[in-house]
Amino acid sequence: MIVGNEKKINILRQIIKSNNIPHAMIFSGPEMIGKKKIAIEFIKNIFCEDLCGECYFCKSIENNPDINIISPVEGNIEIEEIRKAKERLSLKPYYNKIKTLIIDDSHLMKSDAQNALLKMIEEPKGDTLIIFITPFREMLLKTIRSRAQEIKFSLVGNEEIEKYLISLGASSKKAKEISLISSGQIGKAINFFEDKSKMDFFNKSIEDIIFLSRSSINQRFQYAEKLKDDKIKIIEILDIWERFLRREILLKVFNYKSSVNYSLKKTKELIDELEKIKYMIESSNVNKRMAFESLLIKL
Ligand SMILES: [Zn+2]
Repeated sequence: MIVGNEKKINILRQIIKSNNIPHAMIFSGPEMIGKKKIAIEFIKNIFCEDLCGECYFCKSIENNPDINIISPVEGNIEIEEIRKAKERLSLKPYYNKIKTLIIDDSHLMKSDAQNALLKMIEEPKGDTLIIFITPFREMLLKTIRSRAQEIKFSLVGNEEIEKYLISLGASSKKAKEISLISSGQIGKAINFFEDKSKMDFFNKSIEDIIFLSRSSINQRFQYAEKLKDDKIKIIEILDIWERFLRREILLKVFNYKSSVNYSLKKTKELIDELEKIKYMIESSNVNKRMAFESLLIKL
């Protein structure tokens, strides 16, 4: 089941109906809102017009040789993976429909890997479709962006998330609690619901930022030390802190008691800084610990 982004999904249905499927598409928008899931449904829909849920195509994408999916391994997409996928894409479709390639977190391709795909997009041979999924569209080459049809997905509304969680068996209290901390990211909401340790990690990270905001420089460095260069964990923590600070702004604006002693101005500055650091860690080879430390000092 797909939650949210109804208008965009209608556009995708129209594309299939019109039988005018582009050779390249970009599915952009925030993380964990279901872009990959939507891309897979879209491709299934090309193979099965009614998305019946019963047929060979609907049941499994793993066994369909015309569907290729590349996901990053340890934060990288190697050019070798792209080359192999290109070869598979150049074969005739097995099912006489279309050959497809989904590249998840496609901004993690370096420019050589992106360039390797460019020719396929500029002069497509036969029926091929490449879908670039990314929250950072700017990191795709301009030449790719200009040739791809882009669909911009957005965050999912709290009510939709709540309803969905209730349909999964959550109590309405729990559904509300989770929707409030998921900030429109349906994937996160599902994680929180299905995996208690995610919820614990979330709460722990909030405790950490409150603690750090009152602690000595040494304690801050120790905190960074503990995380080493664990990019995925650092990004996860920064993500939680960002949401925490955004909520802090609301609390301050409405004069509720907030958890940290920051002024409104300082909270906003921290959010900007946090976004900057997150982008740096995500997109370049900066020393992650140093970048993270530079933020910790400002907390
Ligand atoms: Zn089907």
